[in-house]
Amino acid sequence: MKTITILSGKGGVGKSSLTASLAVVLAEKNKIVAADCDVDAANLALLFGIRDFERNEKVSTNKKAFVNENAKGCRNIVEACPFSAVSFDDRTQMPEINKFLCEGCGVCKLLCPQGITMNDVENAIVGEAKTKYNFPLVSGQLEMGESGSGKVVDVVKQRAEKIGERINADFLIIDGSPGIGCPVIASVRGSDYVVAVTEPTEVALSALKRVLQVVEHFKVPYGIVINKFDLNPDFTEIEEFAMEKNIPIIGKIPYRKDFVDAMVNMKPVVEVNPEYKEIFKDIVDRIMVELSAHSAGA
Ligand code: SF4
Repeated sequence: MKTITILSGKGGVGKSSLTASLAVVLAEKNKIVAADCDVDAANLALLFGIRDFERNEKVSTNKKAFVNENAKGCRNIVEACPFSAVSFDDRTQMPEINKFLCEGCGVCKLLCPQGITMNDVENAIVGEAKTKYNFPLVSGQLEMGESGSGKVVDVVKQRAEKIGERINADFLIIDGSPGIGCPVIASVRGSDYVVAVTEPTEVALSALKRVLQVVEHFKVPYGIVINKFDLNPDFTEIEEFAMEKNIPIIGKIPYRKDFVDAMVNMKPVVEVNPEYKEIFKDIVDRIMVELSAHSAGA
């Protein structure tokens, strides 16, 4: 099974929309499994019209501090907490921990070993669903304000890989997170090909360059897709950058109102506009060529 990961250096360039349409086109001739690894803001399922998941699994990425009665009078942990997560109730003489602020560093436990316990917290959920496009989707969601997104991505990928093995899938297609943080690194690691999505703006190009540094670090081959390329036709810097660095541009997607209509109706855009179907078929063909070229050269 080959793993294709879709990334963008920043949010809002159409990464998940592109992933949804690529998955639908890829699934027409191949067995695939899709994974939403944008675990801070997972929404790939919505683009397939899915609202509910099955076989939900709770995941813990972190420990947090909990007080017990032995912490009575332990006021010194208020100042010691590096994340200002502890306050003190003068009435009960008990410290109180704000679970949203606690990062699980354990400093308070060192100062008050009898009164603090460090417990695993279930702060993420991973589930799966069947799409109507004949492939399964695994999705992870980290709770608001929680850390440990890289671990959730690992769980999502492992589960998708297991499903892929079970159904004998040809491809795992991953919707990665925007940015260059832990979830991106966890998504890229082990991928066979990365599709880097951008749009014709200076900000998006800057973000693209940053995320490509991450991809290069893991020595994963990649190509660029320019989304909404016709919204700023005078912006030629992406193509100049690609030419200078010898990076293939594997697709250029025009902007049409259909994109918005597809999202409103919770459908991949290839389902509502045949023009897009052809464009995405070309991108898939190009990915296949790139994958086989790199497999042959490996
Ligand atoms: S574990 Fe660390 S962050 Fe959490 S309350 Fe204790 S000192 Fe503060």
